[in-house]
Amino acid sequence: MKKLYGVIGNPIAHSMSPDIHNAALKDLGLDGHYHAFKVEEDSLEDAVKGIRALGLQGINVTVPHKVSIMDHLDHIDESAKVLGAVNTVRREGDKLVGYNTDGEGFVKSLMRILDKPISELSFLMIGAGGAARAIFTTIVRDNPEKFDICNRTIEKAKQLTESAPSFRNVEVLSIKEAEERLEQYDVIIHTTSVGMYPNVEDIPLSLQRAESSAVVCDIVYNPIQTSLLKEAKQKGLKTLDGVGMFVEQAALSFRLWTGHEPDVEKMRSIVVGKLGGK
Ligand code: NAP
Repeated sequence: MKKLYGVIGNPIAHSMSPDIHNAALKDLGLDGHYHAFKVEEDSLEDAVKGIRALGLQGINVTVPHKVSIMDHLDHIDESAKVLGAVNTVRREGDKLVGYNTDGEGFVKSLMRILDKPISELSFLMIGAGGAARAIFTTIVRDNPEKFDICNRTIEKAKQLTESAPSFRNVEVLSIKEAEERLEQYDVIIHTTSVGMYPNVEDIPLSLQRAESSAVVCDIVYNPIQTSLLKEAKQKGLKTLDGVGMFVEQAALSFRLWTGHEPDVEKMRSIVVGKLGGK
């Protein structure tokens, strides 16, 4: 019988997840289908009952349900517990288990362009929201030389550092302070929504003081080439766009559900095609 998968969120109409997952199911000859479901906040409990009753094998979870869905699942894997958020649910027998593949997805995409291990690098992250938490808690497991965080709301960055209390090489900075000491970092990771469509001219911080060897990552993927990445390229810096994280986290969910390895490069080209190569 055809196995069913999906994504729940709101808004969800423009999700690219059905395109990449259905292509991977087809390419691997797996008899399954992946569908996007719009679920309002007050319908989440009913939606999870529906997932159980209809026998869906796996779902992705996006805004606004990543935290609230945890109350409706049977078990939360360590990957999601540490983040306090779930982006992937897998049916395991008659139980629904929550996972989070965002942090690992980002690190997988980053490792494709780094030429040194994380333990030999110093990081700056701009932002302290949900995606930032996933990236911070995953990277500090490999004990980087330093991992500083700057954010518009300093208090939120301080709270984020408390999610990995044993990691000490972390400082919380204002955006201005971070700009002034940018030459200290090997990897600069932008995780806020600044520069996202339609505000594509906005830039989260100036790269003026970045070292010529620095790598600049932006997890925003619409547009793919954000103003921050354009500035980095103009300065001759290495860059990583947000499509990498998007497809790697999706590929990790796909593997959890099916045990099969999807073609990540094909997933990437579908996303780039849908975004019009922007
Ligand atoms: P979130 O939890 O709502 O966090 C938003 C972050 O953006 C906070 O640090 C917030 O700062 C900051 N921010 C928002 N508006 C700002 C502004 N005008 N000026 C300065 N800072 C601002 O969101 P999220 O889920 O982490 O997502 C953040 C971005 O990452 C989104 O663009 C999302 O599309 C993208 N994302 C990409 C992937 C991927 O796979 N590539 C995955 C997840 C998310 P305050 O704390 O001061 O409010």
